Amino acid sequence: MLSSNPYPELVKRFANQQVVTIATGATCAYLGDERNLREFLVADEVARWLRRAGHTVIFYLIDDSLDPLNFRQLRVAVNKDEKLIEQYKNWCGKPISQLPDPWGCHESYAAHFEEELLNRLHRLDCHPTLVTTAKLYERGVYTPYIRLVLTRYDEIFEFLRTNFEGYKPEKLLWPLCPHCLYIHETDIKKIDKGLVDIHCHSCEQHSSVTFEELQCKLNWKLDCAVRWAYFKIDAEPFSKSYLEPQTGSFAVAQALSREYFGGHKVLPIQYGLVNMEKKFSNTLLASLPGSVLRSLLVDRPATDFKLTRDLLVTAASRYTVMPGLSYLDFIKQLLPMWLLTPQSLTREQRDLLSHGIAFGRHFLDWEAHLPLPTRESIEVEQPAVLSLVHTLLGRVIRLRENSELTSEQFQQSLSGLIDCLGSHKGPTLHRLRILVGQEQGLPAGRFLFLLPLEYLRLLEYMVHLYLQSVGETVSIQEEDPSALSIVSGATQMRAIA
Ligand SMILES: [Zn+2]
Ligand SMILES: [Zn+2]
Repeated sequence: MLSSNPYPELVKRFANQQVVTIATGATCAYLGDERNLREFLVADEVARWLRRAGHTVIFYLIDDSLDPLNFRQLRVAVNKDEKLIEQYKNWCGKPISQLPDPWGCHESYAAHFEEELLNRLHRLDCHPTLVTTAKLYERGVYTPYIRLVLTRYDEIFEFLRTNFEGYKPEKLLWPLCPHCLYIHETDIKKIDKGLVDIHCHSCEQHSSVTFEELQCKLNWKLDCAVRWAYFKIDAEPFSKSYLEPQTGSFAVAQALSREYFGGHKVLPIQYGLVNMEKKFSNTLLASLPGSVLRSLLVDRPATDFKLTRDLLVTAASRYTVMPGLSYLDFIKQLLPMWLLTPQSLTREQRDLLSHGIAFGRHFLDWEAHLPLPTRESIEVEQPAVLSLVHTLLGRVIRLRENSELTSEQFQQSLSGLIDCLGSHKGPTLHRLRILVGQEQGLPAGRFLFLLPLEYLRLLEYMVHLYLQSVGETVSIQEEDPSALSIVSGATQMRAIA
């Protein structure tokens, strides 16, 4: 049984092995949605734990690029575009590595989606090494293994029949028809004296090819056993159904590996299934920072779960994106401030900003907006309070202009300034909060430190203009270096009261 955090246990299994090879598999016929990412991220997480423990880890992503394209995959790949489906439907049944790239930017259909998948994984900080099986076949890597399967074809069938009751594969390998180049409807009729007789139901032609000429793809379980042997794979993630002990793919592949391919030992890493409401499909990547999506998928890898809005909002409130700030609080409190000065954000901050905007839209029914103070929110306040707000803003701006100031130093200076407000502290901060749209948000010391300086200057200017327009003396100028400026504002307040 795997515990909820199986990673330390997995690391222990390799305690005496320096180099560990982990593999994951895919058929890069389309990109799919976020659920497909779990397998890769779980494998990557194991790789990270091992690397942290000092191991050298090789991490492969193996694309079964000799798999034939099927109609369902094509539909997803072209985004259900009827015109494209019509245009490419005759491709179904040919290996994806032998089809052209519909968008013309890669050497093949498979290469296109291989790169799209890798790009997606890179954005989640997962960097496997791509292996595309068609190239392995092309380079003859599989030749000895295929020869073995061809020469012992009946024996392997018999082995499977006796050891795995109920598992009867249709065939051990799929030959490529040399006439029409389809692979999905070919049968092996006879294997004799180095020749393979093939019948293709697609073009209804017979062919007889030598072992050397034969282009084919192994049954997936045999293929698994072959790659374990060739790449010396030590661990590979599998979902529960593959790990079914009687006739699950893993058990079958393991037996084939032991019997025919040297029996390289592989540790299965079990991962649970992710269910998702259809409407959320393909919104998660845009809405969650990589680290958050990653945690969601890898933290309890063996658990099945359903991605619902509630679960995502809870996750957003749990994962911190910067010290002391959860993703959800970031979205509601800091994000609107960042909207004001996108040009001053770092690349990481811009990423976080765009994720937050998407999260608000998809899961909170909330559109990010600029919290610019309205004239009304200024007008309703007493000029004396506004005068204090103005003075406080001026002091804060001057503090903030010192870019060396740490958050702690800023808080310290600010609490000195706020203390000077005395009994006017409440109304002044209340109005300030309303003006910057932080009625129930972050502590004042935090938002005044985080708000873009340009924004604070703009706000100060607006209040200044208003005070001038109502004939209120703006007694304290920004240039005034005296810390007493706040106190003199307060004196004014007392005079009014
Ligand atoms: Zn392309
Ligand atoms: Zn054919």
